[in-house]
Amino acid sequence: MPVVAVISGRGLYRKGFTDIGKDLHFEEDTVSTPYGALDIKRTQVGDLRLLLVSRYGTGIRDREMSRAAMAAVKSVGADAVLSTFAFHAAEPDIYPGTLLVPEQYISLGEERGPRASRMEEPFCPVLRTCLHSASDVHSIPCRGGNLLQMNSPGGYTRAELELARRLGAAGIVRNVSAEARHARKERMCYHPLCVAVGPYQKGDVYTPTQRAGFGYYSVLTVLWDALWRIEDSRDCTCRV
Ligand SMILES: [Zn+2]
Repeated sequence: MPVVAVISGRGLYRKGFTDIGKDLHFEEDTVSTPYGALDIKRTQVGDLRLLLVSRYGTGIRDREMSRAAMAAVKSVGADAVLSTFAFHAAEPDIYPGTLLVPEQYISLGEERGPRASRMEEPFCPVLRTCLHSASDVHSIPCRGGNLLQMNSPGGYTRAELELARRLGAAGIVRNVSAEARHARKERMCYHPLCVAVGPYQKGDVYTPTQRAGFGYYSVLTVLWDALWRIEDSRDCTCRV
């Protein structure tokens, strides 16, 4: 039976998939890791065991969060991880709410992941196929491409976005390399699903229509469908 963890922001962790009509009953546990204790929600739906983890508001330091999350979900049996990320688009034709399933990242600057060999393919090709199949079946456009990772503390400058574009990246993202490396170290399949963010302010409250514009429901729909496409037997080397 696949055990899949979803690492996300607080909204998905708190509400699960209720916003797309999936009312699941979760149990919440606190899992201790060498890097701090982390709350995990878990449930079983049919042949799927699902874990939810929030990246934010956990009390764990930002720099330890990726390895704490991967160690925690591994300790309760996960062998596949899907994660959601917001990215800042570097190309003018990528509007807020656009979904992206990245193939590669280019990491510049501070790197907090562990040493890991075999990072030529940082993300699981099988999980990528699951995400693309899920977006296809719901006719939700989902592009491929590369991302530039820069862990700037706040927003990105026009010059940084221009750099990303010149490097052939669709946009800029934070922290994805640390998660990929820790997932590889823990021998789990891992893939991010990214959504382009708009020029809005943290803490703002949005209407459902605005949230739809930001890709919120698209992300939930693609993730939910992709979860059911993950099989125990996977033709990849992530778990070796
Ligand atoms: Zn894999």
